[in-house]
Amino acid sequence: MTGARPLFGGIEAGGTKFVLAVGHSPTEILARHALPTRAPEATLRQTEAWFREQGPLAALGIASFGPAVVDRADGSWGHIATTPKPGWSGCDLAGHFARAFDVPVGFDTDVNGAALAESAFGAGRELASLAYVTVGTGIGGGLVVDGRALHGAAHPEMGHLFPRRHPADGEFEGICPAHGDCLEGLACGPAILQRWGASLSDLPDDHEAHAVIASYLGQLCHAIFAMTAAEIVVLGGGVMHTPGLLERTREAAARLDRGYLPGGARHAIVAPALGPNAGIAGAILLAQAARAENS
Ligand code: ZN
Repeated sequence: MTGARPLFGGIEAGGTKFVLAVGHSPTEILARHALPTRAPEATLRQTEAWFREQGPLAALGIASFGPAVVDRADGSWGHIATTPKPGWSGCDLAGHFARAFDVPVGFDTDVNGAALAESAFGAGRELASLAYVTVGTGIGGGLVVDGRALHGAAHPEMGHLFPRRHPADGEFEGICPAHGDCLEGLACGPAILQRWGASLSDLPDDHEAHAVIASYLGQLCHAIFAMTAAEIVVLGGGVMHTPGLLERTREAAARLDRGYLPGGARHAIVAPALGPNAGIAGAILLAQAARAENS
């Protein structure tokens, strides 16, 4: 037995699955579980039931898909904001679990959670600044400076900016419901599937899609470096499992910059050191922070 050491719960609330974990710290996970993201009521009920089996929690952290309300001063803090996901708009994710378990609840976006974990234990543990970008069903990013995730008017988005079109990308109109051919609309997993009929990792290595997607991700990384001076961009998400994509993205970003940015060699584009555990480790970190704030 581990005596009185507090048990923290973490929820990585994703668009396709919820990953749940309990542990004494982000690096001491005792149990984890995953369930598909269905309608809110069923998903929250199953999540709650799993945590009840794990023992009493000291606090809970939620790293959620966005858009989400992360401003503590906002009356809708901890809610999912307006989303095309059926039923989830306005869902009071943090409030539901705060009421269910009567414990402090920490809440941030999934990418800010992953950014916090990579900053504390992963690729950025020696650094003061880090951006984390996931390239998967969508494209989203978070930014951590001196151990704190950046919140301004809302959380950063990063995916909805407008890249220079790659010459080999034809007339593809993009799939973002708001913008069409923003970066997410051109380079997320479903956009790749829609125009080439396969995921990037299933296309031959000499297929033009590799250069096209690397060009867009290179532009995103360059934009992050140019606007925030973050030391590294950590690129996670399913699309980044494509062999060679990380290297191609680095080359694209370097080609664009032409040696201009003053950070120079200090800027790096890297894979997550925590692999797929970054998000859930971030959720446990959020739980620890919530408990500390309430003690
Ligand atoms: Zn967009």
